[in-house]
Amino acid sequence: MARYTGPVCRLCRREGLKLYLKGARCESPKCPIVQARPPRNFPPGQHGQRRTRRPSEFGLQLREKQKVRRFYGLLETQFRKHYTEAVRRGGVTGDNLLQILESRLDNVVYRMGFADSRAQARQLVRHGHFRVNGRKTNIPSFMVKANDAIDVRPESRRREYFKDFGDILGTKTSPDWLLVDSNNLSGRVLQLPLREQISVPPFNDALIVEHYSR
Ligand code: SF4
Repeated sequence: MARYTGPVCRLCRREGLKLYLKGARCESPKCPIVQARPPRNFPPGQHGQRRTRRPSEFGLQLREKQKVRRFYGLLETQFRKHYTEAVRRGGVTGDNLLQILESRLDNVVYRMGFADSRAQARQLVRHGHFRVNGRKTNIPSFMVKANDAIDVRPESRRREYFKDFGDILGTKTSPDWLLVDSNNLSGRVLQLPLREQISVPPFNDALIVEHYSR
């Protein structure tokens, strides 16, 4: 499946907030959203510093959708598929959408602390370093379920990246719907996350629903 390969900081600048797409750099003073000289907390591109006009209704809806899509590192086709599934499930579409996005294997690997960013988690999954319930799984969009066990494949544990990784993993915190065993480089999905358990940039899901209902 295709993925975005362009510069990622411009995505944050376009949305006007930190989307945490670059791992450790996002917490450092080098982040262009916060760096003091020169401040680059304006949209990217030749016209980024122009006086902004009041956005249209469509513009507002588009920005909300792009914000969430970029936060999870997805292209439009993938994101739309998840949205369609969220509608099919019934109930509150925004909550369903967030739960589906959080259930992706690449996101779970990132949330467990095996990677510094979703992009890195996606690459680790694509390279076949993880098993789900004992079976090698290299599909980033694989949907995990409650009680699924995720671990690093025995063959991958010898790799430089995973050597002594337990110590690093032990220093990280994971959300309370996931259980991580840093000594065994493994984890378990205790339950699928509820809306209040998911940390995402503030967004208005009603605008996303309106965007796709046009
Ligand atoms: Fe770049 Fe991370 Fe800052 Fe976003 S949050 S602008 S990806 S350094």
